[in-house]
Amino acid sequence: MKNQIDQQVVDLAQQMINIPSITGDEMAMGEFLANYFRQLGMVVTKQEAATNRFNIFAHGEGHPNPSLIFNSHMDTVPPYFSAREDSEWIYGRGACDTKGIMAAILVAAQQLIEERITDFGVLLVVGEEVNHLGILAANQLKLTPDYLIVGEPTENSLILREKGSVKVKLTSQGRSCHSGYPQYGASAINPLVSALKELIDYPWPKDQERGETTLNVGTIQGGVAANVLAEQAEAVVMIRVSHSASEVLAVIDQITKQHEIEYQTILNSAPFSMDRLEGMPTGVVSFATDIPHFIHSGKTYLWGPGSIMHAHTAEEKIGKEEISQAVKTYIEMAKKLLISTD
Ligand SMILES: [Zn+2]
Repeated sequence: MKNQIDQQVVDLAQQMINIPSITGDEMAMGEFLANYFRQLGMVVTKQEAATNRFNIFAHGEGHPNPSLIFNSHMDTVPPYFSAREDSEWIYGRGACDTKGIMAAILVAAQQLIEERITDFGVLLVVGEEVNHLGILAANQLKLTPDYLIVGEPTENSLILREKGSVKVKLTSQGRSCHSGYPQYGASAINPLVSALKELIDYPWPKDQERGETTLNVGTIQGGVAANVLAEQAEAVVMIRVSHSASEVLAVIDQITKQHEIEYQTILNSAPFSMDRLEGMPTGVVSFATDIPHFIHSGKTYLWGPGSIMHAHTAEEKIGKEEISQAVKTYIEMAKKLLISTD
């Protein structure tokens, strides 16, 4: 198996890992990508998504609105750590989410161009890991691809369904007083904890294909001391939604009202379905991508090497053979789709 390692994609992945691009600080990564595509003879658009934050859209010459677009994101989660390798793996921040995947797309793009296949583009955006700001801005490019191939670590399965996600911040306001005389105040923590308990125990409906809706109380804080009734408390909750995001929000609305606390919706994306491609194994994932935020009427394929289980960890990694194979798979997908258009 060792002879199947494509050194070009392995080197490129490490080179990109060594350019930090934590969300909000993607500029250097974008410059690198823009240069790479220009060297291939592709036409590059740098689209400002926010101050000093640019999406990169590259397309084959003569195809400003190509039939096929490869998409991924150039930002990573913190903290940054640089690349290292052993015989099997490449480690480093973004190895599988998504520098290794971008490397496979970049090498695939080069080989397609070398074969004079130019009716495709590559859209690499900022801000996926936090609020989808990059892809939302990319809608202004008014692209209308027939096919969108989105690269995320799916363990080489074509993902047909994606859970939605709802993120809310709950805030509770109390009145502080001496804990020996609680009748003179009101704890902000008690109603928050009661509401969270109800949310944790809530019997969310299950979706046949997407599985369970799950809830995580990610952060909680409030109060100043054990002998003082808390004046303020807050918690941030994330729900991976398999059935209906609006139903989840309705439950949150009802429970927070009941406990007289406030909530603010930070993220709200509905579950989404993607397309299948003959001959490719399929699966389901529990993570959210940019896909629901990109408006187009073509088909969408979510596929990539690497595992989400390694993403966002201190041991983030991707297999060398796997990304080498991914170059071939992306090329095959592109050819299959572009030829079927004719
Ligand atoms: Zn990702």
